[in-house]
Formats: sequence, C-alpha cells, structure tokens
Amino acid sequence: MTRYDDPTEIADRVARRPGPLLVGLDVDGVLAPIVDHADDAVLLAGMGAAVSAVAALDDVFVAVVSGRSLAGLAQFGFGDDVEMIGSHGMETRHRPMEPLSDHERRVLADLDAAAVVAANRAGAGAWVERKPASVVLHVRQADDTSGAIALLELAEVTRRLEGATVKAGSGVLEAFARHTDKGTALTALASALGAATTVFLGDDLTDEEAFAHLSTDDVAIKVGDADTIAPHRLRDPGAVLTFLQALPTTRTPG
Ligand SMILES: [Mg+2]
Repeated sequence: MTRYDDPTEIADRVARRPGPLLVGLDVDGVLAPIVDHADDAVLLAGMGAAVSAVAALDDVFVAVVSGRSLAGLAQFGFGDDVEMIGSHGMETRHRPMEPLSDHERRVLADLDAAAVVAANRAGAGAWVERKPASVVLHVRQADDTSGAIALLELAEVTRRLEGATVKAGSGVLEAFARHTDKGTALTALASALGAATTVFLGDDLTDEEAFAHLSTDDVAIKVGDADTIAPHRLRDPGAVLTFLQALPTTRTPG
C-alpha cells in the first residue's frame, strides 16, 4: 500500500524552511489531472488562485516546470508572477531557447520522420506532438501491443542518432535533438533567484531528474503512486491544492 503524506503537514514543514523559497511545480498530473489528450488538460478548480496566492508571498518564488513547450503552457493562463520553464528546461519566459545548430536541426528532422513512421505503426489513436527541440510519440489511446512496439522502434532509431536522447513516460516517448532536464533548469533558477530552499512537486519519470538535483535542505514531493526517490508523497492534484492553500497561512516571512 502506498503511503501518502498529509498535505497540511508538508506545508507546515515547508513553511519552516529558510527563505527565500522557490516552489517548482510540474503541471500535468500535479496541477492539472491527467487526460488522454494534452490539449484538453485544465487546472483543477481553484488551482490557479492557489498558485497565485503562493507566488504573492513575500519571500516565495513560484515556477511551473513542464515538459510542455512554453506555447503549450499558455493554455493554463498562469500570471506574470509565475516563472514558466518549458520543454523540460529548454525555454523559459525570460530566456528564449538557443536556436538549434545545423546538426540538431538535422537530428530533429530524422526524429520527426521516425516518429511519424512509428505512429503509423501504432495505428489509430497514436499521434505525434512537435516541440522546439523534440518530438513526442503518444500511444496512450492506441492498441496496447502495437503502441508498445512503436515506442520501442522510436527509441531504437533515437539510439542510433548522435546527440539524440529519449525520455519515456506512461504511453509516451519523447525524442530530443538536444539534451535537457528539469533539474538543471530548476537549480539554475534557484541560484539566479538566491533561493535558500527549493521545493519541487512532480508526478512523472522526468521529475525524478529534478528530485535528484535537490539537496537535503530542499523538499522533494512526489505526486501519485509511482516509484520515487522523493521522501514525501501526495496522492493527487487535490492534495497538491490543499498543500498550496495551506502554505500562505503557515509561512512566516524570514
Ligand atoms: Mg507531470
């Protein structure tokens, strides 16, 4: 049986950490319930206001840190006081992505072609999402067997391309022409802001890279029941909402 922490207890623990705080939040599965098609995702009711209230605190910075592109994050309508880190750290609201090199552009074109072939192999329900430096094959709605084979095929092609890397999720495989990870982006932001404590909440495999970058003074919180290196765990976006709503009442600036 998975054991979940009490969201208000974690808020209390976070509130006692030295500031300034950086609160990093993954979006899908953390602020927005997982849906079959990424375009249909919406924040849990009350979440936008809760995130804004935390961002408005004196010694607290808030950043959403997502695998989505910045363009893909726009649909959630986060306020100007929320920093946005998109494409697993490759682009932020205040620092656009470095243009792709010629080599990266060629790799991306090859990955795109391979993803299209794999999506056709997976059949109905499979689709390809295009991001600035990666392509994502989605097979969650495709046939289980042909979907799994398609993911393996795309992973195999990626392995053969110099400089290309993959990140796997549940029913998805993202193939990158440039390596990036959420942890590097999060710690870079924490140091730019002079944050004394970084808190990060994430649900997916790629969020484990962010947890791995945190120190013992930071607070890593897994959302959901998947395996994790994070010492804390919340059940679902509903518990995340309770956690965020509790932060402003418990945090004493200092
Ligand atoms: Mg997620």
